[in-house]
Amino acid sequence: MKALKFIEEELEIIAVQNQERTLKLHNNENIKGDFSSKDYLALAGSELLIEVAIEAMKKYGVGARASRLLSGNLPIHMELEEEIALWKRKESALLFGSGFLANIGVIPALVGEKDIIIADRLIHASLVDAALLSRAKFFRFNHNDPSHLEFFLKRRGDYKNCIIITESVFSMDGDIAPLKEIKQLADQHDALLYIDEAHSTGIFGPEGAGIALQENIVGENVILMGTLSKAIGAYGAFVATSERVKKFLVNKARSLIYSTAIPPAIAAAALAGIRWIRNNSEAGKKLLVNAKLFREKLHNYKIDTLQSASQIVPVMIGQNGLALAISRFLLERQILALAIRPPTVPQNKARIRFSITLKHTQELLIEVALLLAEAFQNVKR
Ligand SMILES: *Cc1c(COP(=O)(O)O)cnc(C)c1O
Repeated sequence: MKALKFIEEELEIIAVQNQERTLKLHNNENIKGDFSSKDYLALAGSELLIEVAIEAMKKYGVGARASRLLSGNLPIHMELEEEIALWKRKESALLFGSGFLANIGVIPALVGEKDIIIADRLIHASLVDAALLSRAKFFRFNHNDPSHLEFFLKRRGDYKNCIIITESVFSMDGDIAPLKEIKQLADQHDALLYIDEAHSTGIFGPEGAGIALQENIVGENVILMGTLSKAIGAYGAFVATSERVKKFLVNKARSLIYSTAIPPAIAAAALAGIRWIRNNSEAGKKLLVNAKLFREKLHNYKIDTLQSASQIVPVMIGQNGLALAISRFLLERQILALAIRPPTVPQNKARIRFSITLKHTQELLIEVALLLAEAFQNVKR
């Protein structure tokens, strides 16, 4: 059919470039280690979260039934927000349906056509979409390079408001942003600073509250975003901010206003997850020790892991085909670690991204490092 011709053409291009994505079913029974899961603290399947979710579901039902601005605002949502605010040491917190929804709701609420966004080049796809949706002027500074950020800040010109966007732990590289320098520049240039802490929340910092707190990045111009779907083991997301900014977002963030509230059982599970993390912050520390061990083993085999300093460890490969072949080699040995290819990462920077979780023992990590060394030697390009 002619109207669908472009779909065939586009799919052909994707296939030729070895960039085809599929929805695979992974039979985890045959898997010794799943390295693509973000369940960093192994909370998603924990008895604790399951029990709490069941109780909440019995109490509130399954769905939240409406947006929080209508009748969907339940006590469990308020309780969860209070806990997040305390944890992140902010005045308040605001829940969103997911991290993607938080980003595409908050950024366009804060900045528009007359404003400017200056973001790290490697920010998550949801933040790129948020920037485009906002219609603000959008500049991207070189990854983790405050001097390049400053270059744009100095040329801010007639734009009204300015927001700087970064992640604290980067999702594809596992490295950490120079938050102190970035915060200083934000203060100097009257900019807002939006930090996506999807991967540092629950792992780093006091009570696992993230890197921004660990680095003492505080102040009214700082907005911290985090997900409930990764270390916390549930689903949904939040921003932690001042009362005034929250009030503003409740009035302006379209993905909050026009979308149903988080299912109450999920909110209850997230609350239990956060409380567990606050009382067990050694869990995140242990995870980081294990990730460091894994990196050290890889470096011994001359395998490049970029500047990773977190539980996310990219094993750099380059060519898409080779990344897929090494991923298959690992899968044949019961290790699930998927190749990440363009456009998620730049051209010729295909990699296998290992997300280390507490399910992985040190013995397994050592074994996988050895398997990778074998794969690099044996797999044909
Ligand atoms: C996963 C992720 C998101 C999206 O969060 P979801 O809750 O999965 O929608 C946003 N930002 C970053 C950096 C992420 O890694």
